[in-house]
Amino acid sequence: MSAGIPKKQCQIQGCARSVATLCYCCQKNVCSKHFNDHIEAIKAQLHPLVDQINEVVEKIQNLKIEQLANKAYEDLDQWRADIHKLIDDIYSIKRKEIEQIVETNEASFVKHKSEQMDEIEKIKLDVEQLISEDDATVDQIEVLKSALQTTETNLATVQKQFIAVNIRVLDPDLVRIKCDLNTNMINLNTNQEQQQESKLRRTFYVGKQLDFNYYE
Ligand SMILES: [Zn+2]
Ligand SMILES: [Zn+2]
Repeated sequence: MSAGIPKKQCQIQGCARSVATLCYCCQKNVCSKHFNDHIEAIKAQLHPLVDQINEVVEKIQNLKIEQLANKAYEDLDQWRADIHKLIDDIYSIKRKEIEQIVETNEASFVKHKSEQMDEIEKIKLDVEQLISEDDATVDQIEVLKSALQTTETNLATVQKQFIAVNIRVLDPDLVRIKCDLNTNMINLNTNQEQQQESKLRRTFYVGKQLDFNYYE
């Protein structure tokens, strides 16, 4: 090219060739060599895309219901192991609590027992006296019977209340199994506008529509 005619130079850095066209991919005026380079670069992106598609196809084809079920079994087993451990931990803590109660209350328990024994001793002496006097009335016997009954009631209360374990049984609703194949998935058949929208929301979705028939 003659030095006298001004030429528009390719905008790619370091290139001295003349401009051939505007390249839409980079919005630059480029020479024919760089234009071809850019076209090849775009075409080159198609091959990895094909590989990517094949990978997804393989993933879908290899997806087995047994795998999904096994994952659910694993989760359930993990829950069982965790809850077993939790139960063992609670058991140990509560056992220690009972040991602690026994230790700190032993003295007052012994005191309570001896008080009850004193009561019984009094009743016993009264009965012996009535026997030796040999003239017991119905009223006297009723009073002694009532005193004995009170002592027995107290004994039953101590047995029931001294250390009480209140147990709440876990209900089966603690674990819920759910099946959901269609909700929270991106629909592949939406129009452009919706696709744009779904792109924005993609992070909130957990999977893609699984159209099994399409790949068969
Ligand atoms: Zn370009
Ligand atoms: Zn160039």
